[in-house]
Amino acid sequence: MSNVDFEEVDKFAALASRWWDKNSEFKPLHDINPLRLNYIKERCNNSLANKNILDVGCGGGILSEAMAAEGANVTGIDMAEAGLEVAKLHLLESGHQVDYQMIPVEELAKTHAGKFDVVTCLEMLEHVPDPSSIIKACATLVKPGGQVFLSTINRNTKSYLFAIVGAEYILKLLPQGTHDWDKFIQPSEMDEWSRHSGLALKGMIGMTYNPFTKVYKLEDDVSVNYLCHYSK
Ligand code: SAH
Repeated sequence: MSNVDFEEVDKFAALASRWWDKNSEFKPLHDINPLRLNYIKERCNNSLANKNILDVGCGGGILSEAMAAEGANVTGIDMAEAGLEVAKLHLLESGHQVDYQMIPVEELAKTHAGKFDVVTCLEMLEHVPDPSSIIKACATLVKPGGQVFLSTINRNTKSYLFAIVGAEYILKLLPQGTHDWDKFIQPSEMDEWSRHSGLALKGMIGMTYNPFTKVYKLEDDVSVNYLCHYSK
């Protein structure tokens, strides 16, 4: 059974040529990238060097490349072929190395159990039919003692106003229809699925956006965007 919503994946494929345009629909991901990279690095003893990292739902490789630049051996997987093509082309420009593959994470988990020191799956869980199955596969792929980082958007009235009405309709940071509120995930749901997969919560932090200063920050407020650190 497929855990891929091709209508969702096609939305990203249609925008693929703009992955590395920092003023495009992907601007928010470029803007938050240094923040999330720092968080991940700090929680991996301040170094990603020589770590085997799997980036699930890597898109055009914004995070994958940044982790490769830190010296990690990164594998990036996604189900939008056009995005992966752009990700591969960008390596020619940046000179970094990332192994990009089009494969469902559940498939990779059948052959690569315990092979990764770190698994990241950022801003992707809210686009899949069954996020718990993705989390389970991430937990299988990471080695015992390894780290898993998951990010998504909380589901409450505020996140409807900020992440959909604000971001898509008023500020137009994202194309209308990017997100479906029903698919947002509450931290308690994320935690239940993760615990069932053998992951223990080590930290959780919110990612906030101030529309007046246009500044993104990591802070305690997890009411809209948030990022979790688990270990196996
Ligand atoms: N993780 C990246 C990209 C987030 S955009 C970042 O944060 O920079 C969401 C990505 O998830 C898109 O590239 C989309 O193609 C991918 N995606 C959606 N459903 C997927 C699935 N079932 N399996 C793998 N990738 C998926």
